[in-house]
Amino acid sequence: MYLHVNNIVWLAIFFILGAIFGSFFNVCIYRIPRKKSIISPRSYCPMCGHTIPWYDNIPIISYILLKGKCRFCGATIPVRYLIVELLTACMFSSCFYIFGIGLKLLATLVLLSFLLVIAFIDIEMGIIPNTIVLPGMAIGVILNTVQGKFIDSLLGLLTGGITVYILSVMGKILFKKDAIGGGDMKLLAMIGAYVGWYLTLWTLFLASVIGLIYAIFSRKRKLMFAPFLAIATFILLVLRHP
Ligand SMILES: [Zn+2]
Repeated sequence: MYLHVNNIVWLAIFFILGAIFGSFFNVCIYRIPRKKSIISPRSYCPMCGHTIPWYDNIPIISYILLKGKCRFCGATIPVRYLIVELLTACMFSSCFYIFGIGLKLLATLVLLSFLLVIAFIDIEMGIIPNTIVLPGMAIGVILNTVQGKFIDSLLGLLTGGITVYILSVMGKILFKKDAIGGGDMKLLAMIGAYVGWYLTLWTLFLASVIGLIYAIFSRKRKLMFAPFLAIATFILLVLRHP
């Protein structure tokens, strides 16, 4: 794709769109694992309960202007809010740059958005909620069926689920405890529903390599796997594109 003025405008539009979606994903990350509605009430400060006015709720900009603090009580707003908004903005604009407008872009952004929300919930709460991963699977199958790839999608879903299941059984025998959670099984099945069986296996392999490298450097023994699956999926989808 050539970078002329038109494209820069489109990149900016996708960046802003991504920031707005990122702001919504922050609401999902906080509320879904706490079983709260993602629609109402409007955003409020969990410390003082003040409803956040619209001018304090502008993605990226408000966080910087408020220096990461609630206007009313001064409580620190977790930096995750800024990170998720920036990440989503970059994800939307880079995927638009790579794939151009079309169904492929839509399917990629849907998958990566699900992964982003799940990864941050996994980091913060250590769970992968069924209320996200199951609709994620269904939407993946639908989006692929629309593109005439129903069988690919189904094979990917089964490959993801079965592979992680086998690994978890092996882990149990080798380490005598649960090394891989059931959430990870559903998560890789969800990824498979979007990318097909071949990329699913590569995603698992790459996520394991990145996770292992991280584990060695951070010296952590217990890791959440969802963030590594998300990063691996992003890398492979980008690399795979001609
Ligand atoms: Zn407050």
